[in-house]
Amino acid sequence: MNYTGAHVSAAGGVANTIERAVEIGASAFALFTKNQRQWQAKPLDPAQIEAFKQGCEQHGFGPQQILPHASYLINLGHPDSAALEKSRAAFLDELQRAEQLGIHLVNFHPGSHLRKISPSESLALIAESINQALERTSFTTAVIENTAGQGSNLGYSFEQLAEIIDQVEDKQRVGVCIDSCHAFAAGYDLTSAAGAAQVWDEFERIVGLQFLKALHVNDAKSALGSRVDRHDSLGEGNIGLEGIGAFIGDSRLDRLPMILETVEPQRWADEIRWMNTQMATQH
Ligand SMILES: [Zn+2]
Ligand SMILES: [Zn+2]
Repeated sequence: MNYTGAHVSAAGGVANTIERAVEIGASAFALFTKNQRQWQAKPLDPAQIEAFKQGCEQHGFGPQQILPHASYLINLGHPDSAALEKSRAAFLDELQRAEQLGIHLVNFHPGSHLRKISPSESLALIAESINQALERTSFTTAVIENTAGQGSNLGYSFEQLAEIIDQVEDKQRVGVCIDSCHAFAAGYDLTSAAGAAQVWDEFERIVGLQFLKALHVNDAKSALGSRVDRHDSLGEGNIGLEGIGAFIGDSRLDRLPMILETVEPQRWADEIRWMNTQMATQH
């Protein structure tokens, strides 16, 4: 069994995410624990922390059902040391905020080499950034999201994800989130059931399913291999329902949060219902 949901708004405070998730029939959800486009954030309000924890308990959202997304500004592979330190501090803050909320997973985009250092050098910096953050926290897992490979963004291939994980010391606290739109834009053909099965075969071989901690479930406005990150509603984009159904319904996937980041929140309840049917039919 897997858990399905969407990235819901935390407007008005993190505790408000719970009701928003419940309203759309979600058994998992994602959120930002701070403004994702700003470096600075106020510490979490103790009353919000308490309300969030109580809400999770009341509605049965356990550690595998909540997947906060870190700020988009963070670049853990930044070639410039001052900028790298700024990103590392912000990343540590994300993990600490998650731990305050009792959340076990934190999803983030690995980073970019900005064409100033080699991809491998940048991947090594990313791994070292993860090592430093894990050393200073106690139980969160750093969940690396695959990217579309836009610009000089790294982490678009399974090989690059594996290269990061190889250099992380605590293998119990590192994992991966696969975003279907990003994978497709990076060149993984998910348009058919056979294609999706092959992509999971490849993932199993190169990264290992034990590292798979979450999925982002999105159709793609962008084309296969385009390296352009543009999400679409399920069934409206270039991947289509057959491929997405097989991607999420693969029998190898179990107890993962499957999070919509699709573009029309008014469709989330329907999209969640549809995702649930894909799992029931394929198990
Ligand atoms: Zn993301
Ligand atoms: Zn995503």
